[in-house]
Amino acid sequence: MAKKPRIVIIGAGMAGLTAANKLYTSTSSNDLFELFVVEGGTRIGGRINTSEFGGDRIEMGATWIHGIGGSPVHKIAQEINALESDQPWECMDGFSDDPTTIAEGGFELNGSIVEPISKLFKNLMDFAQGKLPEDSEDVCYYNFASKGFKSNGVSGKQSVGGFLRQGLDAYWESCKNRDEELIGCYGKWSRKLLEEAIFRMHENTQRTYTSAGDLLTLDFEAESEYRMFPGEEITISKGYLSIIQHLASVLPPGVIQLGRKVTRIDWQPEGHQKSAEMGNGYDSRPVKIHFVDGSVILADHVIVTVSLGVLKAGTCCQDDSDSGSGKEALELEKLSDEEIIKGVSTTVSSLLKSNTNNSHDEFCNGNGKSVEIFESCSSESEVRFGKVLKTKWGSDPLFLGSYSYVAVGSSGDDLDTMAEPLPKFENGHVHVHPLQILFAGEATHRTHYSTTHGAYFSGLREANRLLQHYHCVGV
Ligand SMILES: Cc1cc2nc3c(=O)[nH]c(=O)nc-3n(C[C@H](O)[C@H](O)[C@H](O)COP(=O)(O)OP(=O)(O)OC[C@H]3O[C@@H](n4cnc5c(N)ncnc54)[C@H](O)[C@@H]3O)c2cc1C
Repeated sequence: MAKKPRIVIIGAGMAGLTAANKLYTSTSSNDLFELFVVEGGTRIGGRINTSEFGGDRIEMGATWIHGIGGSPVHKIAQEINALESDQPWECMDGFSDDPTTIAEGGFELNGSIVEPISKLFKNLMDFAQGKLPEDSEDVCYYNFASKGFKSNGVSGKQSVGGFLRQGLDAYWESCKNRDEELIGCYGKWSRKLLEEAIFRMHENTQRTYTSAGDLLTLDFEAESEYRMFPGEEITISKGYLSIIQHLASVLPPGVIQLGRKVTRIDWQPEGHQKSAEMGNGYDSRPVKIHFVDGSVILADHVIVTVSLGVLKAGTCCQDDSDSGSGKEALELEKLSDEEIIKGVSTTVSSLLKSNTNNSHDEFCNGNGKSVEIFESCSSESEVRFGKVLKTKWGSDPLFLGSYSYVAVGSSGDDLDTMAEPLPKFENGHVHVHPLQILFAGEATHRTHYSTTHGAYFSGLREANRLLQHYHCVGV
């Protein structure tokens, strides 16, 4: 009797479980495949990990549905009623219409200082993302942005960070005759220093959106290819993990195998081999997956969904030593709980200090000096945090980073290349064992990379590729 094709999915995160869900629900009635999801960790969800802290449900990884209009994650959340819950959760939905900006030293800033520079930053980012048309009503901001663009160096090697700074310089150039002093209002802060600090604050927020440790490494051209869904950005009150649990719930027991870390994948690049000559020592399945405990599984098709950091480190094939994560994140992950409590308590206390308490000479702008400087300031408004719950996405060998971005010198084409299955389809030559290794995961989606929905779409894409191959889409 002919063997059923065996499909092994590596990774039980959003991409892997979406692929498994699609393959299983599309073919369960005719029992077409043997399906396994092998996961190196001890839980499902990957970079989605809902936890608890101080009685609240909190997210250690993915937190937001980035735009509810058209998001498949939002659709599932609605269907399974995950957007309502009695338990308190880390709800950060919506933004204040009237935010307060406080400079170090406890100075509450007037809107006339914050708003123009915030608007400049927003318009520059909109321009970089292709959202600010030439006939924009904000003509002067468009001019700053296009100045930044034109003077920004060689085409194809431009960074978002470089572009933003050129835009800021153009803005400053336009107001070089104004009075920089703000005597009596903000201690030693000058107007330009405050603008620099506000601009940097927005850059830091942008770094967390894009996960680029430094915006100078973020590719300018690729930024305009990134797509957002329209509508609100919301959190999931029952937890992001409820989406994952829903996807996994259709799979029969035994399909998902935890604690199965893959160390190597052997496949058959050459097309001419016949099954008997394949030399994998077992039978006619072309792919051999090796696990850390020395066991192996043979497969006809493997969908690899591990993160870009893991792929770059060659973890699947070699060792765990080299990480693709940002330096700053890795340094933060090394801090002890006591160091974190001290640093965060000091920073928050410094913001609560009134300007009369301000005894330091230097402004810190969020750099490492803050801790030392404010340690010497004694104050009654000292705050001390008592408990820490921390993640290690950067150094955990199963992730080696939070989410991907397109680095300067790379392009959207590289993302498409990463999504191409092996062996490659060359010169019309059909391999005797096609589609041995397929790639999914957020980093393989050209326009929605970095997100849970990008991971979802990539899992669906690879499941559909196999379903089409076996002529059973829509079964
Ligand atoms: C802190 C943080 C905040 C985020 N916030 C958001 C957000 O608000 N909104 C949003 O949309 N996205 C957010 N993201 C990104 C989002 O979580 C990811 O894009 C998405 O979950 C990635 O899913 P994936 O299936 O591609 O990869 P993963 O979730 O990484 O799944 C891959 C799986 O492969 C497993 N694996 C790795 N190596 C091996 C091996 N050798 N053998 C076997 N298994 C292996 C891993 O354990 C993992 O479970 C955030 C991520 C982080 C870290």
